[in-house]
Amino acid sequence: MIEFDYVIIGSGAVGSTLANQLSAISKVALIDIGTKPKGNRKRLISAPYINNASKDFSHGISGVFGGLTAAWKGKTYLLTEKENKKWPIEYSEFVENSKELALEMNIPHDHINFREEIDNKAFYHRSIRLGRLNLFNYFKIAKNKNITCFEKSTIYDFKYKQDINKITNLSIINTLGQETNIKVTKALILSAGGIGNIPLYKKFIERILPNKKSLDKFNLLEQPHLSIGKIRKDCNPRIRKPFKEVIKGLASEDCLVVGGESDTYAFQISDVNIGTQIYRRLVTRFKNNILSNSLILLLRLLIGINNKIRKYFFKIRTSFNENIGSIEIWFEDTEKNNSIVTISSKKWFKKSLNKLNINYNFSKKNFLTLKSELEKYTNGEIYDFKNQELNTSKIYVGPKPGCSTPIKSNPDEGEVNIDLQIKGIENLYTLGLNIYPAIGFTNPTWTLMVLAKRLSKHLKRKYMFKII
Ligand SMILES: Cc1cc2nc3c(=O)[nH]c(=O)nc-3n(C[C@H](O)[C@H](O)[C@H](O)COP(=O)(O)OP(=O)(O)OC[C@H]3O[C@@H](n4cnc5c(N)ncnc54)[C@H](O)[C@@H]3O)c2cc1C
Repeated sequence: MIEFDYVIIGSGAVGSTLANQLSAISKVALIDIGTKPKGNRKRLISAPYINNASKDFSHGISGVFGGLTAAWKGKTYLLTEKENKKWPIEYSEFVENSKELALEMNIPHDHINFREEIDNKAFYHRSIRLGRLNLFNYFKIAKNKNITCFEKSTIYDFKYKQDINKITNLSIINTLGQETNIKVTKALILSAGGIGNIPLYKKFIERILPNKKSLDKFNLLEQPHLSIGKIRKDCNPRIRKPFKEVIKGLASEDCLVVGGESDTYAFQISDVNIGTQIYRRLVTRFKNNILSNSLILLLRLLIGINNKIRKYFFKIRTSFNENIGSIEIWFEDTEKNNSIVTISSKKWFKKSLNKLNINYNFSKKNFLTLKSELEKYTNGEIYDFKNQELNTSKIYVGPKPGCSTPIKSNPDEGEVNIDLQIKGIENLYTLGLNIYPAIGFTNPTWTLMVLAKRLSKHLKRKYMFKII
């Protein structure tokens, strides 16, 4: 039996930040279904916990420690004060923890928490790119002597002591079927991602709190991305900063946020061509085997060739002051769409956890209203809106699924309180997009890392002198 102060399940943005923070004075177990990263993995693979998903919904995992931070180029900023109004946590707490984390990571805080009003409806929201930054590598977790990583593993079974209301022991299992028994002296944290947390949550709650209802159906809110048109070469430089400069750290990036008539939407220039659109929707549906990987490689090669050819045509076209790239927009989903996650009877990972069915509904926006509002704030610099009606093939949704177990100021048993503890179980915590009360329009990773920092401080205070 091995003993750990903290056991963290899931090593993504949240799990890696938390393990790094807690390991200074504690022994930490970090458990993930993926392997330790070798090189720069960029591909997403199909999430093993999904049984069925709506056609528009493309959710995957990276398959390596570091989670989804291994799969993107780190557009990073803090949620806004406006979004924070739906949270039971004060904005000052976000800012305080954000400043501390930025200082530790040597990031100028102004670059990730700056906004400039255009008028009472629209503003620029500034971010930086952390580059291809797998946070597991960034925090050097593989070399940290206080952190033990369990690869290709998840929870199989657990012991709960009713008299002290704590989970005391875990049995974890790996893909070879080998079991390891762990004693948890302080706390267990579920940080397996916005959707990945759901089967784990269910496993603990249904046994420890059998009276808790609605464990078979969870809400789902996303930030659907749409490719909507092109942008003029001479448009406002604040919304077309060359990506290479941003990634080299020479510039920050401004995202235009517009409080529209029906929703809030954010938009920025990105080169989302038809090849990328197809790739994004397909990649998470392919299995992680030789045949699928070869097909994906072929698709990427074709996209690469297409991009090279396009660049050549672009050069000619831009000399006539034409488009310089496509424009992508993302929205804040609302509950009206009625998207849900249900529990499937199918099991995964040595039958230790249930799989999930995803029923995602996208509400067709009033495209003409959207168009007129965007034109207003870009002075007509966007043009060539592809369709007057929204074409669902241009939607990319699935990387930011949340709000299934939202944080509450006055939670019932089994719900998440403001300390991110699951009420009714003294030492069980969860953090991921699942705890978001509303999904918002700001890309979520920095905010999740800030919440991980805040959680680590709470745990250190709570368990400073206590052992089971
Ligand atoms: C293509 C793409 C682009 C994105 N772009 C941005 C962006 O520009 N800016 C931004 O802020 N965010 C972006 N995101 C979202 C961002 O990656 C996530 O919000 C963030 O990584 C969430 O962190 P997390 O730790 O909660 O979950 P994840 O990073 O998903 O990590 C969860 C981990 O848990 C593991 N896991 C799952 N189930 C289990 C289990 N049962 N047992 C053990 N381990 C398990 C997974 O393997 C994974 O390693 C993007 C996402 C994608 C896919």
